[in-house]
Amino acid sequence: MLKLLKEVFRTGEATHLYPFAPLEVAKDFRGKPEHNPAQCIACAACTIACPPNAIGMETDPVAGTRTWSISYGRCIFCGRCEESCPTGAIRLTPDFELAVARKEDLTKRAVFKLALCPCCGEPVAAAREVDYVATILAGPDATPDQLARTRELASTCPDCKRRNDVDLLIRMGIERQMEKRI
Ligand code: SF4
Ligand code: SF4
Repeated sequence: MLKLLKEVFRTGEATHLYPFAPLEVAKDFRGKPEHNPAQCIACAACTIACPPNAIGMETDPVAGTRTWSISYGRCIFCGRCEESCPTGAIRLTPDFELAVARKEDLTKRAVFKLALCPCCGEPVAAAREVDYVATILAGPDATPDQLARTRELASTCPDCKRRNDVDLLIRMGIERQMEKRI
């Protein structure tokens, strides 16, 4: 008996007190992906990268919104969403306590406004994504006017872009004809 007690004291605690005390996880532990809507531009890169389709995106053209969602019930904690996100809006955390009382609570959502095409008014992409692209294209030295013009171009839908290009080509052709006559 004494020998056994000695062995117990020598070994110390062999189990964790969790859940009565916090459980420390390894440095690179891959737990719950945390989404920060304030940083998200609704670009959908993470939805394409996510192997089990735990992340989804739904567009409502009538309401003019795009809803981003993540289902923690489907997530396999692979970290591909974090790798693919251009803005760092989704990151894996050490949190592994995902139990909820209701199945619906496993899904988190964020709603984003859509940008409308300035020519036809059709929804094009998330307004934040358009702003992000316009800021990169315009460059750091762009004036507010240049930025506004770049934003307008970035939010023009492909059909209107094509139509505008054709109009421009026709105008240029007419001007050239006029120059020849003069
Ligand atoms: S960690 Fe993997 S499975 Fe989970 S949401 Fe991100 S990409 Fe999808
Ligand atoms: S990749 Fe990042 S910015 Fe794009 S939708 Fe996903 S979380 Fe948002």
